[in-house]
Amino acid sequence: MSKPLIICRNLDITYNKGKSNEFKALQGVNTDIYEGEYIILFGPSGCGKSTLMYAIQGSLPPGDGTLLIRGDDIYSYPPQERVYFQRYVMGIIFQSFNLIGSLSVLDNVALPMIFCDANKATRERRAQMLLDRFGVGHVSDKIPSMLSGGQQQRVSVARSMVNDPQILLADEPTGNLDSTSTQQVMDKIDEINTFDQRTIIMVSHNAAHLSYAHRVYYLKDGFIVREVVNPQRKQIKPVREGETIVTELELLARLFPYDSIDTLRVKSLTNFLTQDYSFNQLIRIEKAISLLINGKIHKKLFIDALVKKYDEGGVGIERKTAEHMASASVSIVKQSADIKRFRSDNDSDAAFFSQHKFAERVREYLLENHHIPLTKVMEANLTTMIADRLSGVTGDKDFHRELMALTKDGGLHLKEDLADDMARYMEKLIALGVDVSYKA
Ligand code: ADP
Repeated sequence: MSKPLIICRNLDITYNKGKSNEFKALQGVNTDIYEGEYIILFGPSGCGKSTLMYAIQGSLPPGDGTLLIRGDDIYSYPPQERVYFQRYVMGIIFQSFNLIGSLSVLDNVALPMIFCDANKATRERRAQMLLDRFGVGHVSDKIPSMLSGGQQQRVSVARSMVNDPQILLADEPTGNLDSTSTQQVMDKIDEINTFDQRTIIMVSHNAAHLSYAHRVYYLKDGFIVREVVNPQRKQIKPVREGETIVTELELLARLFPYDSIDTLRVKSLTNFLTQDYSFNQLIRIEKAISLLINGKIHKKLFIDALVKKYDEGGVGIERKTAEHMASASVSIVKQSADIKRFRSDNDSDAAFFSQHKFAERVREYLLENHHIPLTKVMEANLTTMIADRLSGVTGDKDFHRELMALTKDGGLHLKEDLADDMARYMEKLIALGVDVSYKA
């Protein structure tokens, strides 16, 4: 296994050290980033994402700890060498594009090559080729202000690639863009990772982007609080089992390590539907649920099996209860298919939109089961919470906490018992819709 391209060990960065406004922006940060990885630094505004990115970029020396890039401490380089490193090893894209308004688009892209040996014609040829590649070749003679935001950002993607860097850094590159332009830019960056095999480090606070990355470092108050592996991308960094999204099924798998995944799904759903049945009844309910969720029997037969007297091989429960169980099971199984789609759809071109669409559909399922009036802002909050949970960025407890958080803090401000119910339903959908990475 090759060594990581970028290593951070116990990295601390403090702004205004020793002054009254001293601020610890990064504390004890550890990362290993491998060549070819797509990494997202994720977290709320002010948590230290950009600080970490600019430290890696070579313009913010760490106060304490170790930062090695390609095995070197770049801050020990003489100034000339550091500039060389920033120019040829790192490309960078900014949220605000940072294009020079008085230069043509072509000159903006060709500019970083001015310091290398290539003559003007070669520089312009390369710049034009990149502009063509990123779909903005036809506007190369215009000045940036004549372009849309999405076009300007694609120009800056072209500029970032002009010196063929090994590592591409992107600081909230879609923060100023509408959803169509966002997808175009995200797709181009994805292509630079998958096709050109460049290492990408992106700062983002948009959960819909997480499915593009191999791994996500989740920052809070200057600490890396979580590292989430995207189970849908083949990992470059060696991953320990069980490091992907932790679901109730994975927890059950730890409790019942010899049970198959299907058995665990049955246990999860049985436990949800039943409260006070005897052990023997539960075994029969499990059997019926197993047949139902594997498509071996339909709803009617399922109800019959539950209603039938215990002595006759049934479970002996009331018809009304059985009907409720049947409806709940059928809809959970159906709804969980969208969770599967949410988590498997990140390879297609329309990933950004379809994932959002699936998160919205899951939101509707939750609302069908828990009738609460929501404002537009609350609806958007709930969609984000769902996308975060399904991407594995947040855990079940985070989801529960967010349901109770104030709307202005991204929550729904639900009462505890309602949050309990809704979070529980969400975990059921996940349990049925997400494959288990944990193996006993
Ligand atoms: P993020 O990218 O996650 O929004 P930053 O890394 O930009 O966060 O900033 C982390 C914290 O450090 C913020 O609270 C910010 O106000 C503070 N900070 C950033 N740059 C400076 C600076 N040059 N001087 C003082 N404080 C700063």
